[in-house]
Amino acid sequence: MAAKIIRCPYCGEEIELKDLYEGLEVRCDLCGTVLLYREGKFLNLDTNEEYDLEDLEREEEEELEELEEEFEEEEEYYYEEEEF
Ligand SMILES: [Zn+2]
Repeated sequence: MAAKIIRCPYCGEEIELKDLYEGLEVRCDLCGTVLLYREGKFLNLDTNEEYDLEDLEREEEEELEELEEEFEEEEEYYYEEEEF
């Protein structure tokens, strides 16, 4: 699978996930927070707080998806013009 980038919920440092599986532990290099991946969520072992994977994923990826949607809309408009 492709590598994912998440943000440390404590300090915001980017953490690269080379793999993702049940029981995976990732450690933030900056603040030392350890996150345990379990049942589709990350558990902060220091505070026992849970975070959804989607909440921790890098925001830039969401912006890219929005841009792609806009591009598709433009394409449709172009084809409509061609019919006339
Ligand atoms: Zn951190």
